[in-house]
Amino acid sequence: RADLAMYQAKSAGRDTLRFYDPQMQAAVSARAAMELDMRVGLAQGQFELYYQAQIDQGRIIGAEALLRWRHPRDGFVSPAQFIPLAEENGLILPLGEWVLQVACQRLARWAQQPALAGLGLAVNVSPRQFHQSGFVAQVLAALAGSGADGSRLKLEMTEGLLLSDVEDTIAKMGQLKAYGVGFSLDDFGTGYSSLSYLKRLPLDQLKIDQSFVRDVLTDPNDAAIARTVVALGTSLGLRVIAEGVETEAQREFLARNNCHAWQGYLLSPPLQVHEFEELVRRHNALVH
Ligand code: C2E
Ligand code: MG
Ligand code: MG
Ligand code: MG
Repeated sequence: RADLAMYQAKSAGRDTLRFYDPQMQAAVSARAAMELDMRVGLAQGQFELYYQAQIDQGRIIGAEALLRWRHPRDGFVSPAQFIPLAEENGLILPLGEWVLQVACQRLARWAQQPALAGLGLAVNVSPRQFHQSGFVAQVLAALAGSGADGSRLKLEMTEGLLLSDVEDTIAKMGQLKAYGVGFSLDDFGTGYSSLSYLKRLPLDQLKIDQSFVRDVLTDPNDAAIARTVVALGTSLGLRVIAEGVETEAQREFLARNNCHAWQGYLLSPPLQVHEFEELVRRHNALVH
């Protein structure tokens, strides 16, 4: 790579110092193309929310809304790919607002169906979205516009969100909590948040990251971390939920260690809304 860049700089003439790295150039234009595609996709309705069941004591008590992008040429694009880019180029702002609106509309519809009325919905919020000045107003508008009950909405934030402007974060959380909105700390243990934030932030829930759940039965360190997160959360008065539960043995381990709330492929992957609703009716009819 360096050789090639050097060669091109040289061949550009002795007085020209030009840095040109074709690989970097390709990466830049791929990102620009994706950004353009995202704008089009947003305008043309290519984004969709999927719903992954969250279980507590055996019952489905709600879902996590997970964004999906059905690209007309590339098929499904993973949020792991487009969310970080949207954070960088600012598209997370319109995209995140759309997610909140759709999620609240969904909650409002569930509220009118007896079998679904008790469900909550967790929505992922990224740092740039949360820290924008109109965020609280945006959430309240989504609630008011749909008629959804704020106490059914939970916002999932990551530790990265806590790295800047803790005062602003605490203030916004407080304003939203007044409307019943809950807060869950996602991917807990993978970021850099200090334990002192945990007691200062008005959180409701900790989410054990799937990287600790994956090997919880074979890696004693992961088992120790999972147990510790449960103990920490419980003693701070927080609910604890595990993500990425794929096997009955993992679920059993967590339950034995006092974590009765979980989500994961063991019950269901994220589903389209009608499939999710069907799952809830079927599953919850079988448990008391
Ligand atoms: P996350 O919030 O930690 O979501 C959990 C991820 O784990 C999801 O990936 C989910 O599909 C996946 N998952 C669920 N159960 C299992 C399991 O049993 N095993 C394994 N291996 N994976 C499981 P997904 O849907 O690809 O989303 C990736 C990330 O993208 C999310 O991580 C979240 O950070 C972000 N994201 C998704 N939707 C949104 C959104 O609407 N807004 C924002 N800001 N971020 C979003
Ligand atoms: Mg999440
Ligand atoms: Mg997570
Ligand atoms: Mg994650």
